[in-house]
Amino acid sequence: MKNEAKDLFIEVALSLPLAKHLHYKIPEQLTSSVAVGKRVLVPLGKRRVTGYVVDLLHKSEFPEIKDIVDVLDDQPLFTPHHLKFYRWISDYYFFPLGGVIKTALPSSINIESKQVITLTEKGEGSLTEDTSSPSMIILKALSKKKQLSYTTLRKSYRGEGFYGLLIQLEQRGLIKRDLKQNSTAVKVKQEKWIRLEEKGDHLLQSPALLGPWEKKAPKQASCLRFLGTRREAPLAVLNEAFGSCSRIVEALETNGFVSSKWREVYRDPFRDESVTAEETHQPNAAQREIIQSITESSAAGKYAPFLLHGVTASGKTEVYLNAIEEVLKRGREALVLVPEISLTPQLVNRFRIRFGDAIALFHSRLSPGERYDGWRRIQKGMVKIAIGTRSAIYAPFTRLGIIIVDEEHDASYKQEEQLRYNARDLALVRGKMDDATVILGSATPSLESYYNSQVGKCTLLTLTERVEGKPLPTVEIVDMKEERLNNRNKYQELSNRLREALTERSSHNQQSLLFLNRRGFAPCIICWECGHVFGCPNCSVSLIHHQREKQLKCHYCEYTIPKPDTCPQCRGTRLNLVGWGTERLEEEIKALLPQVPVERMDRDTTRGKGGHTRVLKRFSGMAKGVLIGTQMIAKGHDMPGVTLVGVVSADISLNFPDFRSSERTFQLLTQVAGRAGRGKIPGTVIIQTFNPNHYSITSSQQQRYGQFYEEELGLRKELKYPPFSRLINFKMEGTSRRKTEACVERVGTMAHSLWEKGTRYHSTVEILGPASAPWEKIKGKYRYQMVLKGFPLGTLRTFAAHLLEQMPNLLKGSGVTFYVDVDPVSLL
Ligand code: ADP
Ligand code: ZN
Repeated sequence: MKNEAKDLFIEVALSLPLAKHLHYKIPEQLTSSVAVGKRVLVPLGKRRVTGYVVDLLHKSEFPEIKDIVDVLDDQPLFTPHHLKFYRWISDYYFFPLGGVIKTALPSSINIESKQVITLTEKGEGSLTEDTSSPSMIILKALSKKKQLSYTTLRKSYRGEGFYGLLIQLEQRGLIKRDLKQNSTAVKVKQEKWIRLEEKGDHLLQSPALLGPWEKKAPKQASCLRFLGTRREAPLAVLNEAFGSCSRIVEALETNGFVSSKWREVYRDPFRDESVTAEETHQPNAAQREIIQSITESSAAGKYAPFLLHGVTASGKTEVYLNAIEEVLKRGREALVLVPEISLTPQLVNRFRIRFGDAIALFHSRLSPGERYDGWRRIQKGMVKIAIGTRSAIYAPFTRLGIIIVDEEHDASYKQEEQLRYNARDLALVRGKMDDATVILGSATPSLESYYNSQVGKCTLLTLTERVEGKPLPTVEIVDMKEERLNNRNKYQELSNRLREALTERSSHNQQSLLFLNRRGFAPCIICWECGHVFGCPNCSVSLIHHQREKQLKCHYCEYTIPKPDTCPQCRGTRLNLVGWGTERLEEEIKALLPQVPVERMDRDTTRGKGGHTRVLKRFSGMAKGVLIGTQMIAKGHDMPGVTLVGVVSADISLNFPDFRSSERTFQLLTQVAGRAGRGKIPGTVIIQTFNPNHYSITSSQQQRYGQFYEEELGLRKELKYPPFSRLINFKMEGTSRRKTEACVERVGTMAHSLWEKGTRYHSTVEILGPASAPWEKIKGKYRYQMVLKGFPLGTLRTFAAHLLEQMPNLLKGSGVTFYVDVDPVSLL
């Protein structure tokens, strides 16, 4: 969208906590470079800040309007269509538009610092004594060093319209602008390519000329011959073949035999990993039927939302692959969201087998450069498929035809900082805007999504059986209360039943999986003499004992102390480790089964790139091995050798004081159980719990989603929790308890008085709190929350917006930080 002469003003969104957008004027020399989607440098008070152009205007209602200082991009970073999506998000999550845009774009976009400006010969020749003209100031600054970065050069010029001037100087051939290479800070990587020119080709074709020349310049000749076989090659390849040969190439270039050109190269996300061969399958009847209904809808090219509810190992991935293939055939693009990609190497592998390596990957372990490359390959239309974690929802596709959200129930789709969005929900929003098919897939759909499928907001598709008629695992429940009664002296966290089963499996050369959602050695360390519990000074939690590192650590703030020998309170020396974490479980299993190889997969053992893949690879090679892990092992892995899954404690998540704790427990148990018996031998699952009759546990025992859903839905209805209402959480935190509390009280009073006054809120909005959060203090901050609960959404939002307007005043000077969490996933 080029700017026409009549648009004199622009609207700029800043990534600052300002509600409104600002208007600026475009000075004459910049009119041709301004466009929606570019960044601009604008004055704000005494500062200069970067903002995004979000609109071009003929006029502005504001009286005094300042000029923009500069345009920072050659090409727009987003299209008006993407902007529409950003605006929706900004509005829905009560977050500044500039902040949304900043979140959506890769953080490494920083084009101005990447540019290098060089003075050309012509430029040098044009230098004069004149020191008044702006162009001459720039040329003079350059003449000292010949080459400067954009940022450095920018500093030497104090006037306005710097960028416009650069463009002019470049057009006049006085300077050259390049993307800088090879520095670690730089995001665009380039490679020099050498290309055979006609003159060189001609030489190769004429033996009469070639012979004599070859005698004179043998090295040039071999280089040229090499190029004759392939037309062009990167300089690096020539160097490899002939030793360092930049000189030779230069000579060839001077003679006009070859030409050289810098080309952007993209870091290959797959360079470390080859595709693992895997059987491919023809879809079975159930899969075919589902694929057909999806492709029929996507053929219509309209928004079509589906919930694919398929039990574990029912072949959901196969459905995704087929649905995507259809969409690609129609020339459209595909986005696949996964909870954490480094956890699902198998899924990526299947995509590569099917579609090759033209896939962009986005996950937390990419370098900023890699992320940026993936983003640009999409922007340039070089890849049609992206697989990524939640932030991939912003992938800059322009012809998106399908969005898949795998394991849609997963909490990691929710961002818990800054812009608190839910990528699963945004998938539906974006799908609607882009006329795309959206598939939410899960063996344990979130209550909200399943409810949506029941009230007609999306189409439910179900796969009720595992592929190839494999049975679902049998699930046994071990009542740990009884276990404790029966083994008064010898009680430990591994029941007799589970120990027997582990021994038995390993004697049959079969693999087992043990799930314990708590890392470290022991979750608590207590003094036997005085009862002192080692807690974190910054957080209201106890410190976790890590055996190998001989440390006590806080899992929230990373506070760490060496393992103490005495109690700081009573000097007692009998310090007792209470409970088990994965590290301890590993030790116990090694003692129980000394002949069996044991692997552990949790945050401590999977640090660094490819950490998960390494653990999984090692485990897959262990015939009778045991894999111990936190919820990481629950997610999407296909481990055909596993016949036994043990859940060491089903109660950890059940005991969280949160309205979703039953749902979370059911999901975790069902997913973990789903790892058993995916190969030829049927699986067994053993769940240890102190709550054997809880419906989360009994319904996951019977793998009955419907039963769980009905039970949980009844409770939610009674308590008017989602999906029967929506929540907006006002969170406040501060380092001083007293000041924060005072502030929170003011907010509470304001909220209640607004509610009193607005009679329409009386039957629609409920205010819970304000009160301190269940985890009262984290990272040194006292945390409070006030949850607005309401239905319909519109009224609730109006109320929240009203209150939000008051917040700056209520918090002024208090040092309390505040944020809104719309549709919170956790109320901890
Ligand atoms: P889900 O995602 O539902 O848990 P997957 O898509 O991972 O299931 O499939 C489980 C296993 O079944 C995989 O190893 C996959 O290759 C295999 N599979 C998928 N579809 C078929 C099919 N039609 N016939 C045989 N095996 C299949
Ligand atoms: Zn802490």
